[in-house]
Amino acid sequence: MAREAVYQQSDPETSAAPVPREQDTSLRPRRMDEMVGQRDVIERLKIAISAAQKREEPLGHILFDGPPGLGKTTFATVIPAEMGTTVQMANGAGLKAPKDLLPYLTNLAESSVLFIDEIHRVPKAVEEYLYTAMEDYRIDIILGEGVSARTLNYELRPFTLIGATTRAGMLSAPLRDRFQIREHLGWYTRSELCEIVRRNSVKLELPVDEPTAKVIASRSRSTPRLANNRLLWVRDYAQSKANGNVSDEIATAALDMIGIDTLGLDKQDRGYLDTLMRVFAGGPTGLEAIAHTMNVSSDTLEDEVEPFLLRSELIVRTRRGRMATEKAYHHLQRVRPEASA
Ligand code: ADP
Repeated sequence: MAREAVYQQSDPETSAAPVPREQDTSLRPRRMDEMVGQRDVIERLKIAISAAQKREEPLGHILFDGPPGLGKTTFATVIPAEMGTTVQMANGAGLKAPKDLLPYLTNLAESSVLFIDEIHRVPKAVEEYLYTAMEDYRIDIILGEGVSARTLNYELRPFTLIGATTRAGMLSAPLRDRFQIREHLGWYTRSELCEIVRRNSVKLELPVDEPTAKVIASRSRSTPRLANNRLLWVRDYAQSKANGNVSDEIATAALDMIGIDTLGLDKQDRGYLDTLMRVFAGGPTGLEAIAHTMNVSSDTLEDEVEPFLLRSELIVRTRRGRMATEKAYHHLQRVRPEASA
């Protein structure tokens, strides 16, 4: 439930101004052409969609993987829109037993989409139940109990399963192999994020200029969801502190106020680096040890904090554990313990 955790944070000191669900939805692109970046993914999907439409078949099952906030759910909503079909949304964490899948599977319209977010969280029994649903559009439903129980082989309407995961490595090979299309969503460039910020500032009726968009984009950790979060906070700040005027200086002051630094790190990211440097002398140390010391779950750190720190070369993962890099010491203006001894 990585996304829920982001929304539920309510302390502006630690959360970089959470986005209420309605606002997040209103900023979400509705069509593929409204999406920014991920051009190669979009290109391949468009080909697959048009081929499926020509054959009058459902689109093959699709798996998206990548860190939170990069557009997996957005793809799962724009694909059915392109195909003129409907989508049902489920979360892997909520599918505890095969029976939890039944309402979704039996409600499928012809060629519609079932989206399962965090699909790596479905238990083995649910995963196995999905196999025949995905492959043959059939499921077994057990009616009654004990000696009078009987099995009904139920035919499903042909459908497309879209799975999303932040942990592709946790998916079993049989499940992974049942997805015909697998796409990894990568980080967004500064100019793509600027474009997202500019477009969304118009939607929010507070258009920002190029320098302001650049400040917000450069502090958004290459992630559209964070760009939206930061933009909404800058808007609130501008409206309450600057009579609705927005500029790069106002954006900088707004983001400084909630502890978003020039690399886009928030307090949790810096807390991770601080723990690694202060408590574990820069590492190497295990993720669990860092998580226990910070009193947060290791899943949160692994999904939401580490991917960007790794990508920014602020930490490295070695066989003996996580280590802070020279760049991290420099960024936090600290001196490595050996060097200071
Ligand atoms: P994920 O499912 O990967 O966690 P989402 O699809 O929920 O991420 O994306 C979070 C938000 O970021 C969306 O609501 C949308 O506003 C924005 N977003 C994501 N990808 C794009 C994109 N390619 N273009 C524009 N906005 C995007």
